[in-house]
Amino acid sequence: MQHKSRRQFLTHSAALAAAPLLAGVAGSAIAQAPERKLGVALCGLGSLATNQIAPALLKTRNCRLAGIVTGTPSKAEEWKKKYGIPAKSVYDYQTMNRMADNKDIDIVYVITPNALHLEHTLAAAAAGKHVFCEKPMEISVERCQQMIDAVKKAGRMLSVGYRCQFEPNNLECVRLAKEKVLGDVKIIDANFGFAMGDPTQWRLKRDLAGGGSLMDVGIYCLQTARMLTGEDPIWINASEAKTDAVKFREVDETVMWQSKFPSGVVANSVSTYSANGLAGFRAATTRGWFGLEPAYFYNGNRGRRSDNTEINIPVADQFALELEDFADCIINKKASRVPGEMGLSDVKYLMAIYESIKKGRPVSLA
Ligand code: NDP
Repeated sequence: MQHKSRRQFLTHSAALAAAPLLAGVAGSAIAQAPERKLGVALCGLGSLATNQIAPALLKTRNCRLAGIVTGTPSKAEEWKKKYGIPAKSVYDYQTMNRMADNKDIDIVYVITPNALHLEHTLAAAAAGKHVFCEKPMEISVERCQQMIDAVKKAGRMLSVGYRCQFEPNNLECVRLAKEKVLGDVKIIDANFGFAMGDPTQWRLKRDLAGGGSLMDVGIYCLQTARMLTGEDPIWINASEAKTDAVKFREVDETVMWQSKFPSGVVANSVSTYSANGLAGFRAATTRGWFGLEPAYFYNGNRGRRSDNTEINIPVADQFALELEDFADCIINKKASRVPGEMGLSDVKYLMAIYESIKKGRPVSLA
């Protein structure tokens, strides 16, 4: 995924109109500044943890990087030095249970390959920690349910890393849909993909990834349709295409699917691991349209409306926003807007898409 330069100023009326939304998300944490920042332990020090999450935690007001879980000893040494993490807060996947004695750690952020989220969530819950888990939550509905049950049993909170639920340009589009600013949303086109490099990585292995582009980036398109409609799909028809049957032997390369929602809204989507330049959505409405291109990047998401208004709201860091919100929910005992149940339901719809591909016909969810 590409990184675009951050925008510094509100430049347009659309951005100004949406500013209260942004202030609402960030402001909740400011208003309730805790005496102690909640300690976050990152579990799995890969690309996302290193390049996005650790830097984001330096910007959060109510939580901080307090520990790490890694299977790579050289990373442990590097991170201890770089972030001043004490030796007592460094774990590997086998010693995570010892976190129960560590009062500096409140939250475990699971950032390992998809099919390891269950194992690491169970370990964190058993140690009495709250869990923030990356998307997709897991690779089956049953495994998601086990995560929900374990965290509930521990009396802790579970949330899923859906950063677009906090990204102000995406939220502005939800506002346009809800308030029918350009009329009713009728048709949604949402697509996301990137050209997969390293052919040896876990994303191409079914056991660790659960699926391919659909699980990894198609999930953003599914989220867009659910966010804009406020509804869940009741009918899905899907198909798969491959241009490289060797590289994508175990997982899907490109998936195209169509969903129907209870109100009659239709969503069309493509996810792919073979092309760049596909990372946006457009909602066709009764009086025009609105959309973002890009919609799903870490920075620089922006778009337009059919009334020629730009959608371009600056955001400092989506990851900091979602982590601040989770910490705020824990501190103030509020329900998360992205609970484990949402992660589970997305996995249910992803599985319905795979079922449609396998059966070669539409799947009804009503
Ligand atoms: P990486 O491959 O870069 O990192 C995964 C890390 O998990 C590894 O570095 C390793 O850390 C640890 N790990 C433990 N067991 C294994 C194993 N068997 N194979 C490979 N790695 C293992 O992946 P990403 O950081 O890109 O993705 C991690 C998760 O985050 C995924 O669920 C992905 O979907 C999600 N993600 C979310 C994004 C978002 O925008 N919300 C963006 C990118 C990813 P160590 O060496 O420390 O043990």
